[in-house]
Amino acid sequence: MFDVIVVGAGPAGSTLAGKLSSIGLKVMLLEKQEWPRFKPCGGGITKRCYEIMDTDISSVIEDITYSLILTLNHKIGVELISHSPIIYQADRMRFDDLLVENAINNGATFHIKEKFLDFNLNEGYINVETDMDTYKCRVLVGADGINSTVGRKAGFRKVHTGTAMEAEIGPLNKDMNRLKGKVHIDFGIIKGGYGWNFPKEDSLSIGVGTFRHRVMDIKKNLYDMLDKEGIKSSDEVYLYGHPLAFPDGKSRKYNNGNVLLVGDAAGLADPFTGEGIYYAIESARIASEVISSWFNGNEKLQRYTDRINNEIRPEIRSAYELSMFCYHFLPFVMITLKTFPAIFSYFIDVISGHDDFRYWQTKVPACMFGIKKPVSEIDLKYIR
Ligand SMILES: Cc1cc2nc3c(=O)[nH]c(=O)nc-3n(C[C@H](O)[C@H](O)[C@H](O)COP(=O)(O)OP(=O)(O)OC[C@H]3O[C@@H](n4cnc5c(N)ncnc54)[C@H](O)[C@@H]3O)c2cc1C
Repeated sequence: MFDVIVVGAGPAGSTLAGKLSSIGLKVMLLEKQEWPRFKPCGGGITKRCYEIMDTDISSVIEDITYSLILTLNHKIGVELISHSPIIYQADRMRFDDLLVENAINNGATFHIKEKFLDFNLNEGYINVETDMDTYKCRVLVGADGINSTVGRKAGFRKVHTGTAMEAEIGPLNKDMNRLKGKVHIDFGIIKGGYGWNFPKEDSLSIGVGTFRHRVMDIKKNLYDMLDKEGIKSSDEVYLYGHPLAFPDGKSRKYNNGNVLLVGDAAGLADPFTGEGIYYAIESARIASEVISSWFNGNEKLQRYTDRINNEIRPEIRSAYELSMFCYHFLPFVMITLKTFPAIFSYFIDVISGHDDFRYWQTKVPACMFGIKKPVSEIDLKYIR
């Protein structure tokens, strides 16, 4: 009998398995794919995420972003240069593998190429069925991503999704040094979202993501983005599409008895930027605290739903409102940003972990008029 079975070895599942094993619980981490596996993702780890991780991930960081270039339709824009790191660029295959290695070193049992199929509740334990075997556990956690089978089988409400498509380009012949340390975000390349260019060691992750559920021309949007970023048809390009969690931040259930959801499976991501790794790690941290407390007889597992609703959901709700506002009034937003560049420092404060999106309606004007002093020190350059 396992204490906990965690389904899915992405950042949410491996972080949780690592934390629970380190306190002596008997944990199985179940992954349906060959390992290590490719995951369509920009691999941008914000500073706030980097700082809450308890694994040293410096060995899988391929570039550190100090500069953000924001444009509208690849024209008017601003470059902000920070004096400290803003985003750490990781290769997801190596990043996820490192977190799994940490979980195994802490004592977790790791099964690969084994797919979770279903579960049923019994007196005092859960029977978990995979395509290889059946196992018993006391607590089952779905960390199985946006199309969570655990979530569906346990009767959780479906999570809202947007759509993203990413291209992995490289290794490149062009001078990578010119691109290092910078991230380019273009608004306008796709409706209701943005395009990105994240440099890695010797390759690029270029993609487009929208918080709209249905997109007619996402492939065309991506090709437009590639074209604007100077990618030639002779360059080595691999395309990957994937749904994107797009929560509206309304209160919901995150556990159903002894079945919990973490990360994308729970629909936890930032609906303004699309950042999901931070919330995967944060929800795993909260789940580990509640589960260990439950095993010690101190807390009910319902506490997990309460804590996510109290500690994470309010910020997601605010980010959702900000997202609705910004993506509907992009030209106005870009002009406001150029006129009041101090707003950028608020955004950098948020992704650096010095602030959050709650109360942006008052904080943004406070930044504009110099009432709120940002922690992050940035310089700004206007570009045409
Ligand atoms: C194109 C794109 C770009 C993105 N870029 C960024 C970014 O730059 N920065 C950022 O912070 N976020 C980004 N995100 C979001 C981020 O990728 C996710 O939020 C994050 O991966 C969620 O982690 P997770 O552990 O919850 O799930 P996942 O990483 O999706 O892991 C789930 C795992 O569960 C396994 N699994 C699924 N079903 C089963 C089953 N039945 N049995 C066993 N195993 C199963 C899967 O194989 C997978 O390995 C991006 C998303 C997309 C689509």
